[in-house]
Amino acid sequence: MIVYKFGGASVKDAAAFRNIRHILASVALNEEKLIVVSAMGKTTNALELVFKQAYQGQEYRHTFAEIQDYHLQIVRELFPALQHPVYAALHQQFAHLRVLLEQVQPHDFDRQYDQIISVGELLSSLVLHHFLDQQDLPNHWLDCRDVLRTDETWREGRVDWTWTEQQISHRLPALLAEKPIITQGFIGGTAQGATTTLGREGSDFSAAIFAYCLQAQSLTIWKDVPGLLNADPKLFRETVRYEEIAYQEAIEMAYYGASVIHPKTVQPLAKRCIPLYVKSFLHPQEPGTVIWNCQHDRIAPSFILKQNQSLLSFHTKDFGFISEQHLSSIFQALSRHRLKINLMQNSAISFSTCVDTDEPRLEALKADLAEEFQILYNQPLHLFTIKNYDQPSLDKLTHGKEILLEQRSRQTFQFVCRPTQEFPH
Ligand code: ASP
Ligand code: MG
Repeated sequence: MIVYKFGGASVKDAAAFRNIRHILASVALNEEKLIVVSAMGKTTNALELVFKQAYQGQEYRHTFAEIQDYHLQIVRELFPALQHPVYAALHQQFAHLRVLLEQVQPHDFDRQYDQIISVGELLSSLVLHHFLDQQDLPNHWLDCRDVLRTDETWREGRVDWTWTEQQISHRLPALLAEKPIITQGFIGGTAQGATTTLGREGSDFSAAIFAYCLQAQSLTIWKDVPGLLNADPKLFRETVRYEEIAYQEAIEMAYYGASVIHPKTVQPLAKRCIPLYVKSFLHPQEPGTVIWNCQHDRIAPSFILKQNQSLLSFHTKDFGFISEQHLSSIFQALSRHRLKINLMQNSAISFSTCVDTDEPRLEALKADLAEEFQILYNQPLHLFTIKNYDQPSLDKLTHGKEILLEQRSRQTFQFVCRPTQEFPH
């Protein structure tokens, strides 16, 4: 059996739904399939907005109506018969969403966020389920909250792997033997029956969880790019597609900030040696990229840019050396305020680290450490990483940039610089 994941761009309008039908009717016809789907187009952003408006006591009905109209307009194109059951299914979801918004309380932001934002995936999976059914591709609709369990870490639910694997591996194979399963990405359920989300862009991770628990033959993520590229084409002028790369390589790229796959996706697949295909939903016959157990001495350098960075440097107040004691209090404070170290370096009397800019967290950190250190910071900055760099790629990327800090290992070159005018790179 195989797992497919379709992201927001592959369900953004009626033509996109028809394209999914085309893919399912033309590739891997005889395999058992589980299909994970994200919210349609930019629905998750729109739901975040409507929730924020409700939370802040602002007028939100207009945003709500826009979300509803967007879905209904696509559904009307796909289902001309107005008595089709998809209308009742959507109506129920929107009625539920309206009640949730009316009941929003001015506390517990994260918990309420999950109950509301998750509606996007319920809607898209219902539309896909009914659409494929109507197109002679009968399928089961699965509420993934019944099988994918997390704890109550709202907005970043931690998966209960034992329970989840047991449910998925016991309950789904018999269903899959009958017909494909359509389910939601990004969301999970708690033991108490509440909904959680797995972090933005988390649908890839959901698909990997299903692939792992079902010991699938492969996972394919269908995207609007031809495969895994060595740089984001929106940020870099020249890109190349990898035909294949190793799990380890993909994990590291995601760690440094490559946005093509969600960082948690590859680990579970690597554990069970399940190949991950990244393919274009516009050109399903093209090979795309496969991430698996392969070995290469040398692959094309990859370029990763993290924007909106802050460079912090900590100096001891008495110009004394930075000791392990100092480092320990800095690390503890970073961890307490959930600031993730993207790069770090220390010298005799200072310690520097580059983190994502998050003003409230940075302010809290500064307040926390102000007694012990003099803290300087610099922003907004860019953090570039070149994996598998060589001299020409390094020269080209650093050219004309004001570098504040750099670091290199044998494979990886990283530097922090001021944002440049030249864009893309
Ligand atoms: N719909 C969610 C998001 O936009 C999850 C996903 O698409 O992966 O973050
Ligand atoms: Mg997405």
